[in-house]
Amino acid sequence: LAAADSGGVASYHPVLDQQSLRRLQLGTELEQAMADGQISVVFQPIIDAQTSDIVSVETLVRWAHPRYGAIAPDDFIHLAEQIGRIGAVTDHVLDLALARCRRWLDQDIALSVAVNLSVHCLTEPDLVTRVRRALQRHRVPGELLTLELTEGSVVDDSVRDSTVLADLHGLGLRLSMDDFGTGYSSLSQLRQLPIDEVKIDKSFVLGMSTSQGESFIARSIIELAHNLGLRVVAEGVEDELTRNLLAEMGCDKLQGFLVSRPLPDDRLESWLLARTG
Ligand code: C2E
Ligand code: CA
Ligand code: CA
Ligand code: CA
Repeated sequence: LAAADSGGVASYHPVLDQQSLRRLQLGTELEQAMADGQISVVFQPIIDAQTSDIVSVETLVRWAHPRYGAIAPDDFIHLAEQIGRIGAVTDHVLDLALARCRRWLDQDIALSVAVNLSVHCLTEPDLVTRVRRALQRHRVPGELLTLELTEGSVVDDSVRDSTVLADLHGLGLRLSMDDFGTGYSSLSQLRQLPIDEVKIDKSFVLGMSTSQGESFIARSIIELAHNLGLRVVAEGVEDELTRNLLAEMGCDKLQGFLVSRPLPDDRLESWLLARTG
């Protein structure tokens, strides 16, 4: 960050300096922000590709900062990981997601929720206990929870050799490999890890209506996953053509702006009502 000025004296690049200051400050504010209710969640519906029935909702975190306004998860999740606070954020999001799920159960609606789990969390020794307690606290059966493994989906050797994924499975929940096809997620991981589902990254899905190459990748992922006995979700479905292509390819579930944007709780409620009539 330090740059030498013309006089040979170290000075700081003003833009970078502002950014790192803000990051530092955000890090210290995160805990209080959760306590103050600034960190909330929105829910994005996921539908069955063949029947269009809603099968699940993905929980996406939001930070409404009193001075900076809306801060995107891409701007603070990584920070939380770096300063070792991602576990606290995960617990907070899981709590909000399961509380929502519980309220549906009370209305006799068994709608499953997906929560993003940074692979960093997989090395936290108490993760399985925390997830089990959260399920118990909200009296939600594990079957209604999906954990999506995010952040490059690179599961390192220590995690692969540990029992953490099997233990999470033991709670009855489903494991999904997020952003499949990007970063470090590999085919061999799909075989080696106790994964139930892959999510085709939206970078491929967004290009499907215009590029045969992207369609070919999507088709290949679906075939491969199905051969391994995994279900496939496509995220980033924005147009009818893509939706039809994916349905023809046998993709199991769809998510994207075509179906719905991520919605705050009350708007999801009316979306569900309008949809189910
Ligand atoms: P993700 O898990 O891949 O989530 C999908 C992202 O794509 C979301 O962005 C969603 O709003 C956006 N999206 C959904 N449908 C469409 C579409 O049709 N077109 C386009 N262009 N985009 C679409 P969002 O909410 O900004 O989240 C970004 C990322 O932040 C997530 O990517 C996830 O990796 C991370 N994230 C969000 N919430 C959490 C969380 O609670 N915990 C962790 N660890 N990560 C989270
Ligand atoms: Ca996700
Ligand atoms: Ca994704
Ligand atoms: Ca992503």
